[in-house]
Amino acid sequence: MGTLWWNGTFFTMNAENETVEALYVEDGIIKGSGKKRNLENTYPIKKLVDVQGAFVYPGFVDSHLHMIGHGEKLIRLDLSTMNSSDEMKRELKESVAKTGKEEWVLGEGWNENNFFDRKLFHREELDDIAPNHPMFLTRICRHAALVNSSALKIAGITRNTPNPEGGLIVKDLKGEPTGYLLDAAMDLVKSKIPAVSQAYVQHALEKSVDDMVRHGLVGGHTEDLHYYNGFIQTLDAFKTVIDGKNRKFRAHLLVHHEEITQMKKEGYSMGDVTSCIELGAMKIFADGALGGRTAYLSSPYTDDPSTSGVAMHTVKQLEKLIQQAREVGMPVAIHVIGDAALEMALDVIEENPVKKGRDRLIHVQVVREDLLERMLNLPLVLDIQPRFVASDFPWVQERLGEQRLPYSFAWKTLLNKGLHCAGGSDAPIEPVNPLLGIHAAVTRKKPGEHMSYFLKQSLTMFEAIQLFTSGSAWAIGKENRRGKLKEGYVADFTVLNQNLFEVEPDELLQTKVVMTVIDNTIMYQN
Ligand SMILES: [Zn+2]
Repeated sequence: MGTLWWNGTFFTMNAENETVEALYVEDGIIKGSGKKRNLENTYPIKKLVDVQGAFVYPGFVDSHLHMIGHGEKLIRLDLSTMNSSDEMKRELKESVAKTGKEEWVLGEGWNENNFFDRKLFHREELDDIAPNHPMFLTRICRHAALVNSSALKIAGITRNTPNPEGGLIVKDLKGEPTGYLLDAAMDLVKSKIPAVSQAYVQHALEKSVDDMVRHGLVGGHTEDLHYYNGFIQTLDAFKTVIDGKNRKFRAHLLVHHEEITQMKKEGYSMGDVTSCIELGAMKIFADGALGGRTAYLSSPYTDDPSTSGVAMHTVKQLEKLIQQAREVGMPVAIHVIGDAALEMALDVIEENPVKKGRDRLIHVQVVREDLLERMLNLPLVLDIQPRFVASDFPWVQERLGEQRLPYSFAWKTLLNKGLHCAGGSDAPIEPVNPLLGIHAAVTRKKPGEHMSYFLKQSLTMFEAIQLFTSGSAWAIGKENRRGKLKEGYVADFTVLNQNLFEVEPDELLQTKVVMTVIDNTIMYQN
């Protein structure tokens, strides 16, 4: 006995323009598709769901984000919407006034590229705003932070503190720390921020899942296990929040390399943890990000020839980490933004091939022609964030320079080459709404603006939706179970009020989510 979903346009995503009238589902799996009458004559139907003329897509899955971080952004001081340094200052002052004695002021998402003066707050200015509270403000890219003197003091950072490996304590001409910390230097302060409570983590995760489902997402490949009181507590939060009954959601958790030992000790390995939660590849960072010029490039930054970025590990260290993954039978998921980081990752992957599954390269923003070929010869999936085009242009042009740009954010080139790509938001860095990612992939621009960047690199609507459906499924080896509406696939649907293949790109963002269906269960209905 099963469910018949009908009265809509069901895009199978098996081939472009292929639609069916109805789907029959049993035990969460699509058993039949086609005409309603045929299905009614063939199957024992117990329940009918009328989607009232809506448009049904395979459930959208975000292939790379940080779910708890996204939830934190929803409950914490969000600086990502600040358009001037004055506005940021006002917001911070208000936040300080609300913060209890000796508590930390934590803010997320500031981006000086959105300020006309590109102002980076100096430690002393932050001291004026927060003389009595330690302050830690994470940049939008999460690879840099601003802190005040009280935070530096707690961390014991002085003019004499050397840069930690893989990080930079920015100092002024007199040698004093300015309060600007890059990559590993952030950890010196971060490690002093009191641990968050389990209740806080759960609350953030609940907010996150509910927000994702509201945006039509049925799942996400997420990286959280290292940052909130460690592997087991964070996994417990996922099990509690996504209990598979009141809340269904396809959570695929990458495992940060520093948590592998803990994972083994707790008796876990890659694969299903519960019906909703699974453990995936080992996450490794190879470099930083373009915003703070820490993405590792093969030649210096065009707008700052003094640096080529930061490699998080030496080749030897990276190799050791990959070998550690191979020992426990895991693929790796490596954060690579610059072409030198990509090259390094390919070097070690080629030497240490994965036995089962596919390795993932996350972001892949700057590539080179010679690296395309090498990627093609490996069992790889590229986790791209189309929305970075909307956020990083135009400033990224002067940063990367004319020569590198044709192979940067070059999604169409990657697809044309035959590389498998999956689409994600990297929330909380970008908004979690998958329609924004699809919009950016198709239009190569910010919503509402006229200027498109490298239009040749724009994807068709079919390709853009594939990123978030079959692409995400391919990334975790579930391309025969997820990401399409056909027999044998899970009954996960993103139900929208518009036909994405027919709307004008700018109308795309007016699309409303009608329903989000996970495992044949309506988890959200508008
Ligand atoms: Zn990320």
